[in-house]
Amino acid sequence: MTASRVLVLNSGSSSVKYQLLDMTDRSRLAVGLVERIGEETSKLAHEPLTGPGAAGGRRERLGPIADHGAALRAVAAELAADGLGLDSPELAAVGHRVVHGGTRFTQPTVIDDEVLAEIRSLIPLAPLHNPANVTGIEVARSLRADIPQVAVFDTAFHSTMPEYAARYAIDAATADKYSIRRYGFHGTSHAYVSRATAALLGKAPSDVNVIVLHLGNGASASAVRGGVCVETSMGMTPLEGLVMGTRSGDLDPAVVFHLARVGGLSVDEIDSLLNKKSGLLGLCGDNDMREVQRRAEEGDSSAQLALASYVHRLKKYVGAYSAVLGRVDAVVFTAGVGENSSWIREAAVEGLEELGLALDPEANAVRSREPRLVSAEYARVAVAVVPTDEELEIATQAYALVTR
Ligand code: AMP
Repeated sequence: MTASRVLVLNSGSSSVKYQLLDMTDRSRLAVGLVERIGEETSKLAHEPLTGPGAAGGRRERLGPIADHGAALRAVAAELAADGLGLDSPELAAVGHRVVHGGTRFTQPTVIDDEVLAEIRSLIPLAPLHNPANVTGIEVARSLRADIPQVAVFDTAFHSTMPEYAARYAIDAATADKYSIRRYGFHGTSHAYVSRATAALLGKAPSDVNVIVLHLGNGASASAVRGGVCVETSMGMTPLEGLVMGTRSGDLDPAVVFHLARVGGLSVDEIDSLLNKKSGLLGLCGDNDMREVQRRAEEGDSSAQLALASYVHRLKKYVGAYSAVLGRVDAVVFTAGVGENSSWIREAAVEGLEELGLALDPEANAVRSREPRLVSAEYARVAVAVVPTDEELEIATQAYALVTR
């Protein structure tokens, strides 16, 4: 029997998302989420999708889960109860989403002590994300030391950006000393979605130029030429670029000096303001796009302004990336907002006929989990909606590496 299962772990600061996949048919065997780790009100939601447990559907366990170690052990117990235990010889690898790979990691990588130490050394570049990723790796290794643990980096797909796009125009020696450059994030999603868009167009990835708009709670755009990323909107950290749920995106860096000098805010306070209290939340008090849209429709002026800012920024990026690519074959929307909000898609494309973009209103209104075209027949550039699947992409990359 060849081992064909991959467990994908996405460890956040207080959460662990997981999926167990069978790579022979790319099916999902179980999915789940542990939330509020370290609090009294932790929650484990587990759903077996195959085997004897599947008929029972989703199960929830409430009660304190002290740390990531306890969380993973609880997940392992749920999987074992469904006959999908992690001790199974069918488990081929564990794939870990790792947010920051710096310039060192541009490919999925089997984790040994040296790799783990290097991921740890990147913590200053991603203080909110990499520590949880490291913990997830340590715990998974302690559960199954005998199978490969593979790191798949959120930055990797963007490592092909040309130097002139990756560099900030600051003193070069200072930039090098502190590893300051644009790395980009959501790379697993941009890779998966740009490839799936080529397939939707019936072409090889090497033959198409695509602008990917990943619009979730975090949001980023990328320009992908012939399957290779040449520009993306997030920078040294996920703060740069589009207006997001709680992040400001682009902003004059002098705002930071002003807040410190005139407002008397500490660096940590400014960090929290820009990452956690800005974007849609900062503009109107809500970061959930459904709520912002609902309020805007009811005439709430701050929600309308938040939407207008969000769409304006998107358009600026679509225009800029059209110029970067020269020829654009498709603009593709993905993630929570991009996949579900026909309103945002319509507003983002409106008025861009000169760039070759126009929607088919009926196609755009359809709700579906399938990749689909929503552009008008006469449009020169295809507009597509492609649901992202970061877990499947992580599993695919990890499995390809360990079965090579
Ligand atoms: P993600 O980070 O990809 O899970 O996306 C989360 C975002 O998607 C949230 O801001 C949600 O409000 C948004 N979202 C989910 N469903 C819809 C919908 N039907 N219409 C608008 N936004 C949605």
